[in-house]
Amino acid sequence: MSTQTAVAPAHEESMFEAVLARLDAAAKLMNLSDEVALVLRNPSKQVKVSLPVMMDSGKIQVFEGYRTVHSTHLGPSKGGIRYAMDVNADEVMALAAWMSFKCAVANLPYGGAKGGIKLDPRAHSVGELERISRAYAVAMKDVFGVNKDIPAPDMGTSGREMAWILDEFNKNTGEDSPGVITGKPVAVGGSLGRDAATGRGVMVNTLAALRKMGLKPTEVTAVVQGFGNVGSHAARLLAEQGVKIVGIGDHSASYYNEKGIDIAAAIEFASKNNRNLKGFTGATEIKGSELLISKCDVLVPGALQNVITIDNAAKIQAKLIVEGANGPTTPEADPILNDKKIICVPDILANSGGVTVSYFEWVQNKAGYYWTEEEVNTKHDQKMEIAFEAVWNNMVQYKTSMRIAAYITALQKLEQGVKLKGAY
Ligand code: NAD
Repeated sequence: MSTQTAVAPAHEESMFEAVLARLDAAAKLMNLSDEVALVLRNPSKQVKVSLPVMMDSGKIQVFEGYRTVHSTHLGPSKGGIRYAMDVNADEVMALAAWMSFKCAVANLPYGGAKGGIKLDPRAHSVGELERISRAYAVAMKDVFGVNKDIPAPDMGTSGREMAWILDEFNKNTGEDSPGVITGKPVAVGGSLGRDAATGRGVMVNTLAALRKMGLKPTEVTAVVQGFGNVGSHAARLLAEQGVKIVGIGDHSASYYNEKGIDIAAAIEFASKNNRNLKGFTGATEIKGSELLISKCDVLVPGALQNVITIDNAAKIQAKLIVEGANGPTTPEADPILNDKKIICVPDILANSGGVTVSYFEWVQNKAGYYWTEEEVNTKHDQKMEIAFEAVWNNMVQYKTSMRIAAYITALQKLEQGVKLKGAY
């Protein structure tokens, strides 16, 4: 597999510290009670497991598995499962906290959680991935639950892993409980529209921001980093709205074409090329580090965390950043973007389309009644518009960035949950 240094080097700082920095800034501005802040600064449950699994070679390998529940004040905890080599306790804790804030911003009756297994999904056979996923499901069977903690896909996982985890969980509990996990294939209780939902949310948020900026989709260009679930759907849906996609990139290669890239052709190319863009001929190959700072109006970081940093923030040319990925901007880069008057729709709003349709999937599973894709998309778009407006209004009211406004929006709800449910 060919790889490139596709992004600026990730900062070594703690991701959870980055969450706390934003939480503190929002808390100060909105006068959040110290006690509520204290509760939210401490995740409620952290589980780490060792997963011994037989590899195809006949040798046993032991994998680290994590699940952190950050909060359950607004409902059962919700959050994806990530398969990546950089999965660690700090990252999972940060991602779990972001899920609490994201669900609150999106008006979903959920708390926040996140899980992960430290592994390179591209380095394992399908059989190995299935055994690892099933081992993880068994290890977490007392953590997960349809009214307790509900996982979903994230980086490195998809409906396939969700189906394995669901099957193993159900076998171990002896119940058929499809709502215990979302992002499932439609045939086993998944929702129509879930696959594209995070990218769809990125598209809806982009259009909403462009409207506020007085720009039409057909007048703007966009660059999208990441060409997996989030990036490829975001690029496709933005292109369908008339946005000219001039740059795309993944872990294998990055491409730029000022005349616009044929996204359908890029998706077809990647699907036939083991999900890699390397070798795509519809644009000129550029260095990964150039992608984020290349000429465009809208930048969608849709791959990794900590890619917009003090090293490259000043060079960003976009007027609007829509964070498809979780945590793509470091706290030190935020003031640089603000000084440049770049509007940044933050991750906890911009990529909440995925968890919103996961919620719809859970609702459909509970009811045993399934909606059309059109119903799902219409309900999704409505919820996303409401969330965008709430954050925008807080931005205006508190004279702050959209990021801090999104935290304020979330904290206003979480504060009620923490206070109403009380403490021992
Ligand atoms: P994915 O595994 O489907 O795709 C990840 C993409 O990132 C791939 O195209 C990969 O090649 C690319 N990538 C990896 N390393 C890279 C590098 N060094 N430079 C450039 N590109 C690189 O993952 P995904 O589900 O699309 O998730 C992407 C991001 O979006 C993550 O931060 C994830 O937490 C977040 N997110 C995902 C969802 C969801 O529903 N899948 C929801 C909300 C947020």
